[in-house]
Amino acid sequence: MVSDEIKSKYQLVIGLEVHAQLMTESKMFASDSTEYGQLPNTQVSVITLGHPGTLPKVNKKAVEYAIKMGLACNSEITRYNIFSRKNYFYPDLPKGYQITQDKGPICVGGIVPIRLSDGTKKEIHLNRIHMEEDAGKSIHLAEETDTLVDYNRAGTPLIEIVTDPDLRSSEEAYVFLNEIRKLVMYLGVCDGNMEEGSLRCDANVSVMLKGATEYGKKVEVKNMNSFRNVARAIEHEFDRIVGLLEAGEEIISETRTFDANSGTTASMRTKEDLNDYRYFPEPDLSPVVISEEWLNSIRHTMPLLPRELHAKFVNEFGLPDYDAGVLTDTKEIAMWFDELCEQTSNYKAASNWMMGPVKSYLNESNIGIEDFPVSTSELADLIALIDEGKVSYTVASQSIYPELLVGKHETPLEIAHRLNLIQESDESSLKPIVELVLEENKAKVAEYKSGKKGLIGMFMGLVMKKSQGKADPKVATKLLQELLDK
Ligand code: ADP
Ligand code: MG
Repeated sequence: MVSDEIKSKYQLVIGLEVHAQLMTESKMFASDSTEYGQLPNTQVSVITLGHPGTLPKVNKKAVEYAIKMGLACNSEITRYNIFSRKNYFYPDLPKGYQITQDKGPICVGGIVPIRLSDGTKKEIHLNRIHMEEDAGKSIHLAEETDTLVDYNRAGTPLIEIVTDPDLRSSEEAYVFLNEIRKLVMYLGVCDGNMEEGSLRCDANVSVMLKGATEYGKKVEVKNMNSFRNVARAIEHEFDRIVGLLEAGEEIISETRTFDANSGTTASMRTKEDLNDYRYFPEPDLSPVVISEEWLNSIRHTMPLLPRELHAKFVNEFGLPDYDAGVLTDTKEIAMWFDELCEQTSNYKAASNWMMGPVKSYLNESNIGIEDFPVSTSELADLIALIDEGKVSYTVASQSIYPELLVGKHETPLEIAHRLNLIQESDESSLKPIVELVLEENKAKVAEYKSGKKGLIGMFMGLVMKKSQGKADPKVATKLLQELLDK
């Protein structure tokens, strides 16, 4: 372990390569299903297996999805796209080559804004987003001496999102990856499922002295199966590389593999024995030309992006950054909240309900907002009941909300009437209660009169209790003050 003091002389530099499986029903160049978890080798057409004489055909949806991601990142969209063959031998690669984009990726450049936990905003530049096909999967079972291979995944459409070396800490990498996940899920181009491998990431890491103008030699780390592990791998590399530099050793460009159990990395191969992929244009596919019309029609299907909803919640609804962040975490929550705000103008109350009682219920029941039993209009009605002074927040959240969750098609007002919860704001009916409380606490009243004004809170509590929570706090306070100051 290198001390923090020594590490503080150095700057981490990170560039990420993120693979996202596109949510198309069929493969990038064949009609086989892309459904996850089917019996091995049941989704393998002759095209996927690369039998001689078969011809690939481009999946139009996959191209649209790649363009959508590019538009969301403000990338420049390449109009004339050719595919290339990347040749290498590996058991999970049935054709002996992968069809990918080499020169001329479909999306060039682009920016992904991120916000760090301390509120700092930063723009991460993309180098490119290109289209390619996934490989199959080698399976090494514990009891088996042989390696098994499943080609179902082979040919699944992927986009690879490549950043510039713009990231400067493991936290930035972690936040960036979450932002990418949020984006692809909002766009509906990838399901974002890390366990199933729909989203995978390789990290390129280098270290330089702070203030240096030239980047250090990078290593590439693979095989992290969660964003947490990407951050752990980066931290480990920071330590390891600084250690080497301090010892006067040279860094070699290499590919390393991460072991989640030990949190360490090990060398897989160095650049010297790197393959020559012999890229050449795929002769079996004609170029994909993206017309202005096509591009425009894709533009029209773009949903609101998380950052656009975030801006709307802050600027139009006047919500704090923090609230907007929580409320745009998933598209489903954001859209539900947006709909709620069409029916109430008390946006802050709406946000508090979402972040408090609604979220807790979703978490406790382990369901998504799409299965939430309360409708946006019911919640809006409940907020209105409080704002009109008919019930207190406490009564609303503890007595009416649970009834709404049971879902008997009663309005919040009907529930309030049925359970006799309507707040007492009528002075003439509250006055006897206030008088009784003061009568029963003569000693405290005397203390109040001798200057202990803070006791008003205690009297309020007693009035609330006696009225079974139905006293309108404003009216009760006014009455208390009048009677005490008499
Ligand atoms: P290569 O030719 O080795 O594949 P690229 O220039 O294509 O390298 O970059 C691959 C990835 O490595 C990109 O995400 C890029 O941002 C990142 N990268 C490049 N140089 C560095 C560096 N010195 N330190 C960290 N990351 C880097
Ligand atoms: Mg490269």
